[in-house]
Amino acid sequence: SAPIRIGIAGYGNLGRGVEAAIAKNADMELVGIYTRRNPSDLVPLNAGAPVFSMDDLGGHGDHVDVLILCGGSKSDLPQQGPELAALFNTVDSFDTHARIPEHFAAVDAPALANKKTALISAGWDPGMFSINRVYGEALLPDGETYTFWGRGLSQGHSDAIRRVAGVSGGVQYTIPSEAAIEEVRSGSRPVLTTRQKHTRECFVVLANGASEDAVRAEIVGMEHYFDQYDTTVNFITADELARDHAAMPHGGFVIRSGNTTDEHAQVIEYSLALESNPEFTSSVLVAYARAVHRMSQAGQFGAKTVFDVAPGLLSPKSAAELRAELL
Ligand code: NDP
Repeated sequence: SAPIRIGIAGYGNLGRGVEAAIAKNADMELVGIYTRRNPSDLVPLNAGAPVFSMDDLGGHGDHVDVLILCGGSKSDLPQQGPELAALFNTVDSFDTHARIPEHFAAVDAPALANKKTALISAGWDPGMFSINRVYGEALLPDGETYTFWGRGLSQGHSDAIRRVAGVSGGVQYTIPSEAAIEEVRSGSRPVLTTRQKHTRECFVVLANGASEDAVRAEIVGMEHYFDQYDTTVNFITADELARDHAAMPHGGFVIRSGNTTDEHAQVIEYSLALESNPEFTSSVLVAYARAVHRMSQAGQFGAKTVFDVAPGLLSPKSAAELRAELL
């Protein structure tokens, strides 16, 4: 059958990751990269990829089966999500957890009115971690769910460091506590404080004349970002920052620890170890684009989340193939 025609709206880390992921999926074809910048300024991974202005999207409704929205959660997706769900089947990675219900409602109305399928908040958290939290709670109703993140680069915390006076560059890694994870894996269902679950490690380049002690004190005491954690601050050179800290690793663990009877503890664990957070997130978005295409063909319109998508719809294999091979 004809390949699924995918468009990419916004070309940053996720946009590049989606382009790479499409190349790994034989049933998909990249039909357009759309950007708010001047299209001739973009350098796609594949020099031959078609690049258009975001303004052209209005006329491209018939050329794109699913548009993957790769804008930022803070200000791009709240605006682009509802606008583009009126014109296309969409997938996004909206990750502002507290605002997901609001985003769902904003996308649902235009999608339903225009018979489009709009999957929001796919990725790994929200996304694959959310699915594993649901499985854990449903299978072990008497239990606790634990999410640990890292070792990983946190964009938000790295931005916060870079805003400190006297800092010219820096990154922050979130590190899960091995001791806490082992305790959870034992089935003992511990109550863990924020400080016990994760530590934070910063690599900072000082601006000329700035004081290490002053910068360290400012970072470790920063409200909401660092004050509830044990934080170490390492000072490095700009060259070291560029050489050793340009990758975007991430990952973590979702663990459900429950009891089926007083005698028996049961532990479920899902873990991710990602060398590139955006490339993995993009791979998830692309698999969900396949599901969205099928749901749209089946007349399942409106906003959806990962909870609404049957696992078999993610696979390029047919339901009959999956039954024969994987059951
Ligand atoms: P980027 O900042 O790399 O890109 C966001 C947008 O900014 C792009 O769509 C692009 O739009 C624009 N842009 C990118 N590079 C440039 C540039 N050099 N100059 C000007 N504009 C640029 O964000 P990411 O791709 O890293 O992440 C996008 C979102 O993904 C994040 O906000 C996060 O919320 C979400 N995310 C979700 C995850 C999950 O598990 N659910 C995991 C990881 C991320 P345009 O081309 O139109 O200019």
